[in-house]
Amino acid sequence: MFSAHGKILHIDLSNNKIWVENFPKELLENYIGSRGIMARMYWDLVPPYAHPFSPENIVMIGAGTFTGTPMPSAGRTIVTFKSPATGRYFKGSVGGDFGLKLKMNGYDIITIRGAAEEPVYVYIEDDHVEIKPADDLWSHDVRSAHIKLVKRHGHNVDTLLIGPAGEKLVKYASINASIYNVAARGGGGAVLGSKKLKGIVVSEGSTPVEIADPKKYYELMKKVVSNIMKDEALVATAKLGTASATMSLDSTSTLPNFNFRKPYWEHAYKNSGEYYLEEGYLVGRAGCGQCIVSCHRHTRTDKYGGVDTIGPEYETSNALGGNIGNADTDALIYMNDLANIYGLDTISLGGVISWVMESYEKGYLQELKEELGTEPTWGNVEAAIKLIHKIVNRDGIGDILAEGLAEACKKVNPETCKWAVQANGLEHSRVETRVAKAYALAFALNPRGPDHLHTETFAEFGTSEGALKLIERLTGHREWAGVGKTEGRPEIVMWHEDMYAVTDSVGFCAFITTAGFAVDEFLMADLFTAATGIEKNAETLMRDGERIVTLERMILVREGRRRKDDKLPWRIMHEPIKTREGKEYVVSEEELNEMLDKYFRLRGWDAKTGVPLPEKLRALGLEFTVDVAEKALRE
Ligand code: SF4
Repeated sequence: MFSAHGKILHIDLSNNKIWVENFPKELLENYIGSRGIMARMYWDLVPPYAHPFSPENIVMIGAGTFTGTPMPSAGRTIVTFKSPATGRYFKGSVGGDFGLKLKMNGYDIITIRGAAEEPVYVYIEDDHVEIKPADDLWSHDVRSAHIKLVKRHGHNVDTLLIGPAGEKLVKYASINASIYNVAARGGGGAVLGSKKLKGIVVSEGSTPVEIADPKKYYELMKKVVSNIMKDEALVATAKLGTASATMSLDSTSTLPNFNFRKPYWEHAYKNSGEYYLEEGYLVGRAGCGQCIVSCHRHTRTDKYGGVDTIGPEYETSNALGGNIGNADTDALIYMNDLANIYGLDTISLGGVISWVMESYEKGYLQELKEELGTEPTWGNVEAAIKLIHKIVNRDGIGDILAEGLAEACKKVNPETCKWAVQANGLEHSRVETRVAKAYALAFALNPRGPDHLHTETFAEFGTSEGALKLIERLTGHREWAGVGKTEGRPEIVMWHEDMYAVTDSVGFCAFITTAGFAVDEFLMADLFTAATGIEKNAETLMRDGERIVTLERMILVREGRRRKDDKLPWRIMHEPIKTREGKEYVVSEEELNEMLDKYFRLRGWDAKTGVPLPEKLRALGLEFTVDVAEKALRE
């Protein structure tokens, strides 16, 4: 096999067993790589009734098909598990060097099943794999645990770790690679915590990845590099980091502030990449291994005892910035660092804190004034910092907040669920979906919940020539780019879903395929053929993407999801938002239903239930899911 080793490393923590399995080439042919192959494995290995914190839940960690080759921006690692936040299948993605080193150790995928009795970590050095005690690492934050492990195993190793939040089963605990890269969403860190697994250490490795047609591959790689350097969005991201998006979203009234009550903000600039650069917070660029975009930022502040960290990314800049009324950049950098080292998802964290602030404003949670020693009012960063500590320690109100918005609002007062901006158990990502309608449809359908790292439909803004061209290619109408428009959204979402599935599976960063536009499906198919020797063209490759998306839908169907769950948070569907120009937007049930009806029709899924139809499943080679679909359709 070329570009993949065809090897899965299985680790059973309950029985202290480790074994290696070879997977057949057909899996690579049909499911492209990490995300697709792991979805196929999840179908076989994770029982639909498994509780997310039970030993039966399996965490799978997979490096992309192009990862380990010299391809730039192709080092993303996919993590798959049943989420404690959503209660269903969840796919996460993380940057850093972990996937690269995993491939260099000769493995494509790791599975973690069972649960250890005492804290452990796994050490991988080629075919030497060991489960080791981690008592001395447990309760360490991610940074200090990483430093300790690097001292122990040598500076060439890399780590995948959980922080105290994962150990305490906070439902939005992240899994961190190389300290600051996070598979943030869905509570994967808590699943590892439930297995008492502090993390995995991978050595430098000594197994090179072989390419089927190196000459062709390197030729195409040059094209990728040149496309990246020409792409407007990627050039801006390289210069200012992902927080360059703040001002562009502010200008289109799609920047959610004050818990999704104001889509622009007069202080937005203080949460922006431009401001971090101008005011000297930014001291350098950082990136995942081999990436030439290097979108991460190395930042510093002398306040809070001195903070030297990576980030904040755009999502964090807004979630812990305008979302909680915070224009204090020093506090933002500090909170970002706390979330990083505690292993907390900043999007969910920000969603929880803004809900607390709005609840307090509306007369709920008044006891917090005493518990926090300060009032949790908008922009009160002291209160926000105290809440972070309480959540990670499950102390007082923190114990309720650690369960995530869906649970917390019910416990505090069901009335507060109206401004708990979540759906399907996941807190909403940082874009105003009432205004950006492709995002609205994508978020409603997303297996993860209302989140961007599954179907990033950035092109709908039409802010670059690449974006406009893509919208024109997908819908036939260049003028359908832009906010507030519903035309062509099902077609736009479908392409992005399929493309994202392929992007994840080969290990590419979505920035270069669906946020920037350096690699399209035509170039991707040529790359795949050159790398693996498996013939693909754009059409067959996108069909593979569709197969992955449809299989994931079937996994969710088996776990109980139906069309009624394809929805957005209450606030997004019931409370109109006013743009800077005074125009009002909401995603009404009627509007969403219209987009969903068309989407299901185009997909070949049953419009009433949202279950893929048996003939579609057979056409995609997903015969093994037909029984489940037929049963669901009969209900
Ligand atoms: S663009 Fe950013 S997230 Fe993507 S691979 Fe490069 S550094 Fe990592």
